[in-house]
Amino acid sequence: MANITQKHRAHILAVPYPSQGHICPMLQFCRRLVSKGVKASLAITNHISTTLNPEPDDHVSLVTISDGYDDGGFSGADSVAAYLANLEVAGSQSLGILIEERVGTSDTITCVVYDAFLPWGLNVAKKYGLLGAPFFTQACGVNYVYYLIYHGKFTMPVSSPPVDIQGLPTLDVGDLPSFVGSPESYPAYLELVLNQYTNLGDTDFVLVNTVYELEDEVVDVMSKECPLLTIGPTIPSFYVDNRIPHDKEYGLSLYPIDPTPITNWLSTKPSKSVVYVSFGSMACLTKAQVGELAWGLQQSKYHFLWVVRASEEGKLPKGFVDEKGLIVRWSPQLEVLSSEAIGCFFTHCGWNSTLEALVMGVPIIGMPQWTDQPMDAKFVEDVWKVGVRVKVNDEGLVGKEEIVRCLNEVMEERRGEFIENGKKWKHLMKIAISKGGSSDRNIDEFITKIVRS
Ligand code: UDP
Repeated sequence: MANITQKHRAHILAVPYPSQGHICPMLQFCRRLVSKGVKASLAITNHISTTLNPEPDDHVSLVTISDGYDDGGFSGADSVAAYLANLEVAGSQSLGILIEERVGTSDTITCVVYDAFLPWGLNVAKKYGLLGAPFFTQACGVNYVYYLIYHGKFTMPVSSPPVDIQGLPTLDVGDLPSFVGSPESYPAYLELVLNQYTNLGDTDFVLVNTVYELEDEVVDVMSKECPLLTIGPTIPSFYVDNRIPHDKEYGLSLYPIDPTPITNWLSTKPSKSVVYVSFGSMACLTKAQVGELAWGLQQSKYHFLWVVRASEEGKLPKGFVDEKGLIVRWSPQLEVLSSEAIGCFFTHCGWNSTLEALVMGVPIIGMPQWTDQPMDAKFVEDVWKVGVRVKVNDEGLVGKEEIVRCLNEVMEERRGEFIENGKKWKHLMKIAISKGGSSDRNIDEFITKIVRS
């Protein structure tokens, strides 16, 4: 390991893609670096900064760059493609200014850790002679599928039969990232995920927010083609190794809430009696699907805590009420998942939500919507065996009967099996980030290299 003085000279600037599921893991990674003596700053957009006016972080300095939409952020853009194009132009320019302003000061940046969705971060880093490392926020298996497509080793669209990729379980079309089965569905996002590999060969390191033990086979296979450092889980230390003081919350929520009514409600519920339902920060369900979910939850015997974001509220059946349940616009998810009252997590299988459930040992019902979520759900059901994935009917819906069936299976019939398997992954994830574990060693290796370069 590098000595303290060397470490103090290193200053990492982390640049996440400006969404909830990307900011939090990078912020946590920065906290981890700071806990090991390295200076770290996190760049959020001017829009996020002015809307949230975040409290200063105890560990990491917050700085700002522009995404080209300082007033409206993402919703100010006409299209995803327009947002991404302006983010690149305005982001590169403002990132460059931020780096330049600090040259020769005690804040001099030495390494840019940029979201793999923003490969232009490397061009900016190299322009100023700095080290650059992409940070992949999705599972390694997902990254590997995109990597193979980018290098022409795997062709889209995939229709049938099931696909065999070294390091991964046999995958049906519906298990692959959604953009692979239907490349025409979101062309701008497909381009975004494939562009992650444009300059990978020029980077100094490749950081992946996963845990080696969760995806060992595919990490081994991909590492032969491009050396990876698995550094996860990037979840507040309190819930994993508890080595970083005052690190219990992500701290930068794009959806501010008062957690008290939720935690008070949970505290009145018996142990393992509540189903926590959330589809993350982006997924939009159809009105019909929200209806099926509502009736399914109502028909089930279980209490439920359901996050329905303000933008989704209009899809709830008119006048829907159920005294077994609490519907909220956003939740303190880590606190919720760690609550004794929670019996299972009905989730879209976003990568952060999946890691959080695994860390807390909470059984999962996966209802993936798009992007990387189907593959995460496949691992949940068939690799880690900590839950089930819902079945979609011929109309493309998950019907209320199927919802009730899955709830019974996970809350009762196969509960013991999922809890037992979950204990193993929870333990392995804790070991990975604890002193001397696989992620801890990789973080140390990263630090050693940046301070010596
Ligand atoms: N989250 C939260 N409260 C909620 C819903 C989600 O704090 O009510 C957090 C969750 O803990 C996770 C993130 O938002 O860290 C969502 O990331 P994920 O990758 O699961 O999904 P995305 O929002 O990117 O689709």
